[in-house]
Amino acid sequence: MHHFTSRDGVLHCEDVSLETIAAEVGTPVYVYSTATLTRHWGVFTGALKDAGLDATVCFATKANGNVAVLRTLADLGAGADVVSGGELFVARHAGVPADRIVFSGVGKTRDELAYALDEGIFQINVESKSELEMLDAVAREKGVKAPIAIRINPDVEAGTHEKITTGKFDNKFGIAWTQAHALYRKAAGMDGIAVKAIAMHIGSQIADLSPFDAAFGRMRDLLAILRRDGIEIERLDIGGGLGVPYDREGDPTPMPPADYARVIARNLGDLGCRLVLEPGRLITANAGVLLSRVVHRKEGATRSFLICDAGMNDLARPAMYDAFHAIEPVRAPAPGVENEHVDVVGPICESSDVFGKQRALPPMQAGDLLVFRTAGAYGATMSNMYNGRPLVPEVLVKDGEYAVVRRRPTWQEMIALESPAPWQG
Ligand SMILES: *Cc1c(COP(=O)(O)O)cnc(C)c1O
Repeated sequence: MHHFTSRDGVLHCEDVSLETIAAEVGTPVYVYSTATLTRHWGVFTGALKDAGLDATVCFATKANGNVAVLRTLADLGAGADVVSGGELFVARHAGVPADRIVFSGVGKTRDELAYALDEGIFQINVESKSELEMLDAVAREKGVKAPIAIRINPDVEAGTHEKITTGKFDNKFGIAWTQAHALYRKAAGMDGIAVKAIAMHIGSQIADLSPFDAAFGRMRDLLAILRRDGIEIERLDIGGGLGVPYDREGDPTPMPPADYARVIARNLGDLGCRLVLEPGRLITANAGVLLSRVVHRKEGATRSFLICDAGMNDLARPAMYDAFHAIEPVRAPAPGVENEHVDVVGPICESSDVFGKQRALPPMQAGDLLVFRTAGAYGATMSNMYNGRPLVPEVLVKDGEYAVVRRRPTWQEMIALESPAPWQG
């Protein structure tokens, strides 16, 4: 459910016409709906509550790190899951309290760990023995105890794209669940460490419940072992990963949050632990579109191309993961106009800069507007300036109002951090 709907034949975000935004802000531009963000947050947290679960929900900042989006979620009570010092800074700047922030990631540096401790962070999810030792040393220098989880790798097949699977032994993430007990013992004996939780995150865009079921089972087993050993665990952090519909024919329909909450409750609900969840995609994906204008229409030898002003630098998912985004014209075709099949591509000098091959669309011409749907997660956060293209701007809509919440940099700003070497005069 989202708030991008057609009114009088023109696609709107809530009460704002996308034609208005395109004319006033320019394209390409990401557009987010406050109502959809609010709704998704409510559905997800409501499902947990209905299943009787006591949970802290930390939005995965890497899905959408826009400060205004994070502020919207923080105002609803969201915590944050961050994967770098930079994301921690952004989350704090957006108003997320430090005691609701979880720090994940395999490569945290000494400086990042020190910063997290200075902020008074809720939890650091340790992913290696090396990191545990580094964190212990940093915490002891500061005379504090770092609150940690160890992220376990449960070795389950998440049934998703191989580039977004994280819970198999051959992935770089977490500590093999078979080795976790030993590391917990070590952690429990460290002066700079306070063991608080077990964590996991098995992948993203997971449609099916069975990988969660398997992974939660292993978490439950480990908890029993640790408790027998006298190691106190207060909470269980089960990560994110719930899939969303991208509306591709034949794709499995992701399970609704209520079903997910029931599987959590069945496996982990009766253990006397608080739960921590780190949803990303589920909260923001359908709350955003990438709005773009057709620059050229080109009749190739075997097919027609719509060449857009958005490229793989603005929305990387199709090029990176073969991801599917539904593509739709902003202005509905006149009644009776038949669809044609076209390739929708960007302007970047790479053959992988393709948003959709042979998509059925009404005939479109240069100047027409279209949207890539379900682009509110892993869209703008992955954008870059490849081909000398300034970072794509972002707009947040609320009812009949919109605001540019990240403006388009000028070319001058694009190169502002660069300078000639001293010998170049
Ligand atoms: C990416 C990530 C998430 C969020 O995953 P989604 O699939 O967007 O829900 C949660 N936790 C960790 C550790 C992650 O790396």
